[in-house]
Amino acid sequence: MSASPVRNLITGGAGFVGSHLVDRLMKSGEKVICLDNFFTGSKENIECWIGHPSFELLHHDVTESIRLDVDRIWHLACPASPIHYQFNPIKTAKTSFLGTYNMLGLARRVGARILFASTSEVYGNPEIHPQPERYNGNVNPIGIRSCYDEGKRVAESLCYDYMRIHDIEIRIARIFNTYGPRMLLNDGRLISNLLVQSINGEDLTIYGNGTQTRSFCFIDDLIDSLILLMNSLYIGPINLGNPEELSILQIANLIRNNSIKKVNLKFLKELEDDPLRRKPSIDLALKELNWKPKIMFNEGLAITREYFKKKLNFEKTN
Ligand code: NAD
Ligand code: UDP
Repeated sequence: MSASPVRNLITGGAGFVGSHLVDRLMKSGEKVICLDNFFTGSKENIECWIGHPSFELLHHDVTESIRLDVDRIWHLACPASPIHYQFNPIKTAKTSFLGTYNMLGLARRVGARILFASTSEVYGNPEIHPQPERYNGNVNPIGIRSCYDEGKRVAESLCYDYMRIHDIEIRIARIFNTYGPRMLLNDGRLISNLLVQSINGEDLTIYGNGTQTRSFCFIDDLIDSLILLMNSLYIGPINLGNPEELSILQIANLIRNNSIKKVNLKFLKELEDDPLRRKPSIDLALKELNWKPKIMFNEGLAITREYFKKKLNFEKTN
């Protein structure tokens, strides 16, 4: 008798990262329940699976509890872009705390393994560079990013207490900046903003002087790492990201040089509490998961540019 397929719950499954994970698990023959409140996610991202016997779509908010029978929970639900998580910061904090509390409760009830999508934002504006997992961070607890940063920190802490007290199986992924197809056109994040601006022939917006840095990982690499982490014995937290660090100015110039339309750089006021630099140390991911990203920034950027081009063309003609 063959083993029955693994039953996965993906919260935030209609979002950018979640929908790529849905694709990957569905393609490997597993069962997927995609749960989302559609705040930043869309049915379009997962519509190819609607009607498939192994796929179920639930319109639900993780701040409300739910009973489901699953083997694995991928807890991704939470807006990730600053403009979206700052839109209703109290709701963001509730999503992190209550949402994670509810999902841990579900994991405990049904004995499921749970992977929590944490973030490099737990390091805040880091004083240690690159950031290893043992670094406890430098987060402003009362700033405009804290609904997200502190929300993720308390969620990590809940995961550990559920593991210590209730012995549930946790995995904690500290995800660094990720980009790729299915980011929203109006997402407000660097890569989507600059690519959309360059395609439209608009000036590329830079907050501050552009010397702040980030390290961007292409979505396919991130999905590989999440699956490896879920399947591994390592409980985390573990950094998942691409250590290729670039300044915002370098990224803007790269996009400008590859732009078909002539575009200039437009410098705007710096954002409050914007971390000055960020780069993951991925030694642990290499050791424990035998993972490192494969896709070069240039390559991932070209794929993402093509996605936005098609999307903008479609919007114009419809
Ligand atoms: P996203 O905004 O595209 O996806 C989040 C999804 O969660 C959306 O579909 C949204 O509708 C859903 N959601 C939000 N609040 C919800 C709630 N209360 N109940 C149910 N569903 C809810 O963001 P993303 O980039 O796909 O990020 C996914 C996860 O990965 C998030 O937890 C985010 O914090 C984490 N993460 C992402 C990045 C990144 O660069 N993309 C970096 C670090 C961490
Ligand atoms: N940024 C920018 N112009 C934009 C959007 C973002 O200069 O149009 C900067 C932003 O100030 C930050 C970096 O790019 O320093 C990454 O921003 P993003 O929102 O993509 O991710 P996060 O700040 O959450 O790491």
